[in-house]
Amino acid sequence: MFFQSNIGNCIKCNACTMACPVVSIEGISVFSGPRNLCVDTARYGNAAAILPSDVYRCTTCWKCEELCPQSLPLAETILELRKSIFDFNVLSDGHKKIIENIDKYGRSIVPITQERKKYKVKKAPLLYFPGCISEMRITSIFDSTIRLLERSGVKFGIPDEWVCCGAPLEKLGDSERLEFLRDRNLDYFDGFEDIVTSCPGCATHFLKYYDKDPLHTIEIVWEMMRKRKLVFKSRKKGLRVALHHPCHLNRTIGPQIIDQAYDILQCVEGIEIIDLDKPDACCGGGGAVVAGFPELALKLATEKMLDALHHDVGLLLAPCPFCVLNLRRPGIGKVEDFATFIERNLACKKEGDKKK
Ligand code: SF4
Ligand code: SF4
Repeated sequence: MFFQSNIGNCIKCNACTMACPVVSIEGISVFSGPRNLCVDTARYGNAAAILPSDVYRCTTCWKCEELCPQSLPLAETILELRKSIFDFNVLSDGHKKIIENIDKYGRSIVPITQERKKYKVKKAPLLYFPGCISEMRITSIFDSTIRLLERSGVKFGIPDEWVCCGAPLEKLGDSERLEFLRDRNLDYFDGFEDIVTSCPGCATHFLKYYDKDPLHTIEIVWEMMRKRKLVFKSRKKGLRVALHHPCHLNRTIGPQIIDQAYDILQCVEGIEIIDLDKPDACCGGGGAVVAGFPELALKLATEKMLDALHHDVGLLLAPCPFCVLNLRRPGIGKVEDFATFIERNLACKKEGDKKK
């Protein structure tokens, strides 16, 4: 049923399981790991053999796929396994809440009520897709991105009627709702040439399911830097800053965006860029694990924050709203979205453009 034609090419090297962050935290008796799930379980195509408490623990970090010498589609197979059991009423209450929110609000989270300036335009070169968390939970990401886009001079719009991209539904295995959301969004996306988003999860989803090649905010900021449109404030005191590499940025839409983020940081005055031991370690914020297994998500976030603490990092930057949200949960150290950090460190361009 979900047997991938090349999954039998596994050479049992175990590189995937040894690198899996969930196996490392939970142990193989709780999470059976990518090889067992994708090679053994998937080979027999038996949905009854798949335990929801096992398959929904994967954060879809793509680390196993990155390391597999046979290039086997491991994370993809886990998503297929979830699809295969979705109809058996296997979701936890936390997972069900995501679906309830999408059905009720068109967002994966409960919206906050806030009046926003409308950016609705029918045709513009660029569509800004903030994603649910930037629009409704960490609204500073939305506000800073708008200011960055305005400053870049590019004409952009946000369709009022946009709905959740569907990425959380993919992680739950709900393919029917996912298609419905995609078709609805695509109607509203008509008339725009490019999409930029704050969320690597949305970007990955657009690439996979919408046949679109979206930009991440970092790419716009990097282009502004290339055109010398970025001038940073001078900072007297040094700040030790580290960059978290979100899995859905680093391993799906492209590691070159991480390089661009470092290029930009090199231009910010008064900061010291610190290397973490494991900058690309999963924060635990993906795969709908925060909703289904919050303790596991918290443990993964804590590991990351302890890495930052160990290096005496004053601020951890995460270019992903889901990562920022989850990395703040342990309450250890400061975490900020990349775009908000860049925007609040820009020098005023002209009188009347002063920041608070
Ligand atoms: S995608 Fe990440 S969490 Fe999931 S099995 Fe692979 S390494 Fe483990
Ligand atoms: S890394 Fe690839 S080849 Fe090695 S055990 Fe895992 S699935 Fe098999």
